[in-house]
Amino acid sequence: MITIDGSAGEGGGQILRTSLALSLLTQTPVRFERIRAGRRRPGLRAQHLSCVRLAAQVGRAEVSGAELESQSLTFRPRALLAGDYELDLGTAGSTSLVLQTVLLPLLHADGPSRVRLEGGTHNPLAPPFEFLERVYLPWVERAGGRVRPELVRPGFFPKGGGEVRYQITPGPLVGFELLERGPLRSIEAEAYLSRLPDHVARRELDAVAAALELEPEALRVVRPRRPKGPGNALLITLRFAHATEVVSAYGEKGKPAEEVAADAVREAQRLLAGEGVPVGEHGADQLLLLLALAGSGRFRTLAPSGHTTTQQALIPRFLPRVGLPSQELSPGTWELAVDA
Ligand code: AMP
Repeated sequence: MITIDGSAGEGGGQILRTSLALSLLTQTPVRFERIRAGRRRPGLRAQHLSCVRLAAQVGRAEVSGAELESQSLTFRPRALLAGDYELDLGTAGSTSLVLQTVLLPLLHADGPSRVRLEGGTHNPLAPPFEFLERVYLPWVERAGGRVRPELVRPGFFPKGGGEVRYQITPGPLVGFELLERGPLRSIEAEAYLSRLPDHVARRELDAVAAALELEPEALRVVRPRRPKGPGNALLITLRFAHATEVVSAYGEKGKPAEEVAADAVREAQRLLAGEGVPVGEHGADQLLLLLALAGSGRFRTLAPSGHTTTQQALIPRFLPRVGLPSQELSPGTWELAVDA
């Protein structure tokens, strides 16, 4: 059994999710201690319990300690089974993060799977649906897995109520290199608006258009039908010849639309200023795990985040033959690799 200190490195939900995924993939039992010990509200929160529940279904796992606020958990997988899985998170927790707990394992299962999740689809501090659809899943496809994502209905904090479906077809994963993004082809901005006045989206899109010099055709307001509660997400999609990035920002009560736009623009500009890197800060920790499972690969990105350095320390605990060298090529430009 592998013992994981849940407070190590970045110390959040990612350690739990990555470990559950690797536990399923290697069929190694895992014990977590000090889960999120350094956080303001330590231990397992509802979203983490959803990850454990879905992973337990996929792995027919024996689990103890899966309770709210628990700081220790034991997870013993007994299988890795394809199938039809459904989970209602019951909160606005991120369906993207719950999916990522089981996606790579299901790509190694004995047949195709379908996963249907209800909860949040556009959450701060997590990949929005479009990040998975346009950035992460194309990497999965490039490695040899096939995943069809469908956003049935968006869900926002605090009401949730979104729905996503994924069809997952396994294939042997092979690594790849992503070193150049190539020339910029297009930038688009989308403002999701749910039960909020039109001017919120308009002001956000106007501010993005002014800052990034976008034409009106590149701007889109998305108004979901039958939303469960209010919500506002602003997405900017940057398409380069060999890479795509989606940056996001979220409206909240009391935050002016112009500030939401400025958050997203800042992140887009940071990527544009990065010397041709094809992978943004958030994608790096997610791509690293995919390539580690594929057994090889190499990519260029911005300076590693705490999430990325945490993955670098965690992955070899389950995959001891995998080396994860990284080097800074120039200030702010890094190359991360996987050597098996
Ligand atoms: P944690 O904070 O430990 O729950 O992990 C959050 C995960 O979401 C990490 O894999 C981050 O890279 C990812 N993430 C956070 N914000 C974004 C974002 N705006 N776009 C894409 N991925 C994100």
